[in-house]
Amino acid sequence: MPTKEIEITPDMVVAVWSGLQAKYGSRVIRKEDSALMVVVANALTSMGVLDRAAFLTRFTTTLLTDIYAPFVPGVPTPMHDLWSQLVIGVHEHVHVLQYQTDPAMFPIRYLGSKAERAAYEATAYGTRCEMEFWRYGEFVTPAREIATHILSYGCGDPEVEVLNSYLAAFQPTIRERYINEPTVVAVDLLDRMAA
Ligand SMILES: [Zn+2]
Repeated sequence: MPTKEIEITPDMVVAVWSGLQAKYGSRVIRKEDSALMVVVANALTSMGVLDRAAFLTRFTTTLLTDIYAPFVPGVPTPMHDLWSQLVIGVHEHVHVLQYQTDPAMFPIRYLGSKAERAAYEATAYGTRCEMEFWRYGEFVTPAREIATHILSYGCGDPEVEVLNSYLAAFQPTIRERYINEPTVVAVDLLDRMAA
């Protein structure tokens, strides 16, 4: 059972997204308003990868430093409550940071190889464990359940296993400290607001 549960407010979500955007120079774009994302959605549908509506309404997509979100941070929707918006904000800024760390190779590696994509996503999904620990003092979502998310990104069972193993090994280290910078930025802001 969780040892605590911090209530998430719209102000918290806005503060974290604003703080992360300021730190990393990222932009948030409403996904359904983006002509580019509509083109991508149609392409994915015709390739049989993802349903157009699902791509536009369920998934957040980060290209370089632009984050295409199917919600406005701080405004909860049936599909994206405030907590999921907070978790997604930190996750997507890991991808922004991955791009900024290696601008030449990150897009090629991410798109070119399932194994590399799984490795980048492992770091990004690790922040979900960090954020859960911040909110609940515990890990409420099993590592394997988080790992299955990667099936939506063109990966298969072998990558789910890799991600599951990574997260299961990573979780105990979170009790000592948060290692992902976007998590640290978010938690610093949140703790200051809660104080
Ligand atoms: Zn991701």
